[in-house]
Amino acid sequence: MGRVIAIANQKGGVGKTTTSINLSAALAERGKKVLVIDTDPQGNTTSGFGLDKNELENSIYELMIGECSIEDAIQKNVVEDLDGVDIIPSNVNLAAVEIELIDADQKEFILREAISKVKDNYDFIIIDCPPSLSMLTVNAMTTANTVLVPIQCEYYALEGLSQLVHTVNLVRDRLNPELEMEGVVFTMFDSRTNLSLQVVENVKEHIQENVYKTIIPRNIRLAEAPSYGLPINIYEPKSAGAEAYRLLADEVIERKFD
Ligand code: ADP
Ligand code: MG
Repeated sequence: MGRVIAIANQKGGVGKTTTSINLSAALAERGKKVLVIDTDPQGNTTSGFGLDKNELENSIYELMIGECSIEDAIQKNVVEDLDGVDIIPSNVNLAAVEIELIDADQKEFILREAISKVKDNYDFIIIDCPPSLSMLTVNAMTTANTVLVPIQCEYYALEGLSQLVHTVNLVRDRLNPELEMEGVVFTMFDSRTNLSLQVVENVKEHIQENVYKTIIPRNIRLAEAPSYGLPINIYEPKSAGAEAYRLLADEVIERKFD
């Protein structure tokens, strides 16, 4: 059975989307079948895979409000030259979903219910979360087996982390008893500065969660790739960013949960 990983951090700009895209593509490169679910109304994961977010026939929005089937929501094999990455895309329409579903029964379980039929078709389901602890993030955590938290190597790295861990604990207590912490992954590490190293050491001292050994470097290729609609391992297969996400994928595959 597949593992569902929610990539979450209520801070924006920490590398959630970059990690969702490139971890997924690296897992597919390792032969895994992956479904990526974009739950951010900004739709950056969607466009990062080369889809035009303004021209979507169906998206996570239609799926969640019950206007399309799961089969119709999934776009298959979205990366040319790389088998095994399917996506449920998103766009700005999703911003209204919280209001539209305000009176819905069991609204924390809508995503989980919606994807239950296809869960077993995948080795990994990667959910890119919006930068908030909203109903969408709660839906992602209720659907997930684990939560992976990207942390940017900058001065305020720890800010908000305790709130996030608190949310994960609340979801585990009330909605999804099986939810576990996948762990923390450091992103945008700059080897030329002491700050990055200090942040890594400081965060490690203050948290109990698993920390992935792989640290994602700051790499300009990673920032460029989305404008070509390609994951890094296709856009620039030999770049430091591509190598780092391959190592992260290997660690994620190795890590076992029961
Ligand atoms: P989030 O989804 O958490 O808001 P993003 O993944 O969109 O964060 O990253 C924020 C910005 O930083 C984007 O412009 C992205 O291209 C850039 N970025 C992310 N990770 C890296 C990295 N390792 N090296 C260089 N730029 C990065
Ligand atoms: Mg994002």
